[in-house]
Amino acid sequence: WTSGTVVDAENSLAELAALAETAGSQVLEGLIQRRSQPDAATFIGRGKVDELRAAVESTGADTVICDGELSPSQLRNLEQKIKVKVVDRTALILDIFAQHAKSKEGKAQVELAQLQYLVPRLRGWGEALSRQTGGSGRGGGAGGGVGLRGPGETKLETDRRRIRTRIAKLKREITAMSVIRDTKRAGRRRNTVPSVAIAGYTNAGKSSLLNRLTGAGVLVEDALFATLDTATRRTEARDGRVYTLSDTVGFVRHLPHQLVEAFRSTLEEVADADLVVHVVDGAHPDPEEQVRAVREVLAEVGADRLPELLVVNKADAAPQETLLRLKREWPDAVFVSARSGQGIEELRDIIESKLPVPAVEIVACVP
Ligand code: GDP
Repeated sequence: WTSGTVVDAENSLAELAALAETAGSQVLEGLIQRRSQPDAATFIGRGKVDELRAAVESTGADTVICDGELSPSQLRNLEQKIKVKVVDRTALILDIFAQHAKSKEGKAQVELAQLQYLVPRLRGWGEALSRQTGGSGRGGGAGGGVGLRGPGETKLETDRRRIRTRIAKLKREITAMSVIRDTKRAGRRRNTVPSVAIAGYTNAGKSSLLNRLTGAGVLVEDALFATLDTATRRTEARDGRVYTLSDTVGFVRHLPHQLVEAFRSTLEEVADADLVVHVVDGAHPDPEEQVRAVREVLAEVGADRLPELLVVNKADAAPQETLLRLKREWPDAVFVSARSGQGIEELRDIIESKLPVPAVEIVACVP
């Protein structure tokens, strides 16, 4: 469903398909509906629901993914009408983050975001669960331990309580881990090691660029969200100054608010940097939109006040006319290709020229 133009919707849908493939799904078909507002009951209108059901039957699809965030009741209603699982963009993105989180802190943050997404939807979830376990949720019966058996509402209350306890525990753990992180960060600041944060839309080439600039072996994947945890590398400028380069989490349009919250502490590292290198995929159909989306997130964590160096990557693959347009729009941007190495030396020089010069102690030498 979209209230925007069909081209916007097509781009967004193509990205949704890429996200779904990243999550391990095989994408069969896309349907777009234009209307000024989503349908209150089923997200898409009645005619579109019929069309969708027909598409599901003819393709044999087992899941429908909607481009947006559905309310718990919209999700349930739509599932009842089309008889297959319905997933929204938020759940899909949460799922990918869960698959890719590597660090202990990243994993805890994703689990927290997933639980927060789950709580208001718990009714549907509880029902699904009781269906699987043979209806023990409603009206007692088999399954469930002592004190857990009972009517659905009691079970629901128990589930809610369990999840709330888990949420509280995760929050405590995350706070403890962020204290350690802050201490490390403060240490870096005391040592006055200048830091550069590489930010940019997911798949723009941040990991590739970090590898090019430092020769480090960071995982590069042609999939959305390869990067979920910050990777920091130390490197040396030509004049011998040491500085750090960090690759930050993937940014994506409509990043679920649960995740912005969850990754706030990771993203806040960006706000501490001396320079933000904002990488844009020049070969993408709409680089300007990606820049807008990334700047929105940067502003949310207070990193919009930092000096920003715009880097248009994939210059090897971008059409000439796009490159010309972007050069006009962003005269100060640096055009590079992390793949071919084109423009990388110039980029390194510009980064180094923008780093703060360390305070130098002057000692008078008397002969
Ligand atoms: P990240 O998500 O921003 O960290 O992006 P990655 O560094 O993982 O790169 C995403 C994909 O773009 C990978 O398939 C890279 O090989 C590809 N890529 C990165 N830089 C370039 C480039 O300069 N030119 C081309 N053609 N592809 C690139």
